Amino acid sequence: MPVNLELPIYGYPAVIWTQDVVFKSKVRKDDASMDLQQQVLRTDVSGMPLEWVGYQEAVRLISLGQVSYALGRSVFSIRGGINAISGLRSSIDVNAIIATSGRHPHKHLFGKGYVPPLSNKALFRRDQSMCLYCGQQFPAYLLSRDHVNPISQGGADTWTNVVTACKRCNNYKAGRTPEQAGIQLLAIPFSPTHAEYVYLQGRRILADQMDFLLKHFPRNSVLRQRVERGKPLLS
Ligand SMILES: [Zn+2]
Repeated sequence: MPVNLELPIYGYPAVIWTQDVVFKSKVRKDDASMDLQQQVLRTDVSGMPLEWVGYQEAVRLISLGQVSYALGRSVFSIRGGINAISGLRSSIDVNAIIATSGRHPHKHLFGKGYVPPLSNKALFRRDQSMCLYCGQQFPAYLLSRDHVNPISQGGADTWTNVVTACKRCNNYKAGRTPEQAGIQLLAIPFSPTHAEYVYLQGRRILADQMDFLLKHFPRNSVLRQRVERGKPLLS
């Protein structure tokens, strides 16, 4: 069940959190587990995953009263300024997942025709850094975007026509289709949904964030199978 964030600091009229205040606020140093690089998963009020935000944006959203509820473990505890009336120091806890209310121009993200932007980073992540021709995993600098049906033969630069390929395989294949090059494609390329794309963009995703995201993957998600197996599907 969602837990309502009860933040008494809202009640202190003199405390106005602005970007500036947040910037100057201090993170408690006694919590060694707190990592300011940790991303917070922002969802809409119905729980649809929207994007990753940093701690400053998360605190800003909470302080503006835009967070309806929060889920997951507490990842940050941020101290603000001292309230002029109460003399108390304000503090704010940020959870791993925050559901934000208000108007969201995000409806299109969940429509049937929505296609997330294509980037090499997200593509390599979709294919788990594996060359879909030789089946080996490589660091990003040895990977490339291969157009299954080459652009020179009318192929499109779209999720369903691109795969991760090591530079060696890509050079070998060159401007040919896999059939023309006599090589086999190990998995069919697919376009991620928005929830899957959020996963592809994440770094150091916490277990509760991952569980949450997986629930929003399509029922027959290939990506879910890859994530749950912990290695790419080869067939
Ligand atoms: Zn290869």
